[in-house]
Amino acid sequence: MSYKDRKKAAAERAAARLAEDEGFMREALKEAQAAFDEGEAPVGCVIVREKDGRREMIASAHNTRERDKRASAHAEHDAIDTACRALGGWRLTGCTLYVTLEPCPMCAGLISSARIERVVYGAKDPKAGAYRSVMNMLEYPLFRPKVTGGVLEDECGDMLRRFFSVMRIKDKEKAHHT
Ligand SMILES: [Zn+2]
Repeated sequence: MSYKDRKKAAAERAAARLAEDEGFMREALKEAQAAFDEGEAPVGCVIVREKDGRREMIASAHNTRERDKRASAHAEHDAIDTACRALGGWRLTGCTLYVTLEPCPMCAGLISSARIERVVYGAKDPKAGAYRSVMNMLEYPLFRPKVTGGVLEDECGDMLRRFFSVMRIKDKEKAHHT
């Protein structure tokens, strides 16, 4: 294969991977929408396992902190619990985690503990992002996943911005009526 052909084949593989990442991010966005509809900050997550060249979704979850009154009820945390139960063990080797918002330090720690191989996130989190926005979990001597950020970034970020603007309006209305 010539250099040019190899370069073309690599570009085609990268394009196919991006299309696949966007497809799974859309599934994570569906979870984020479910959170939005329940009045929870809209963050959604899915976990995909690669086996024998095929990729299948083994877990999905969204943020349920308000409903569950549980500080750890982040989308990634609950998706990881579901995936461990589905695979019958705590090691999620060969799995990719898709999440609409850059993981926080708690979730990034859990992602390393569960040996998740790859993380794909949508919007950056300037307040709590643990993959370079606020701190960089990849600098620590833990198990380090490959991280890809910015997949469907605008859609993921817009949903959060819309949610928080609705919340601000509600807060103002509340203040007005009390
Ligand atoms: Zn988190």
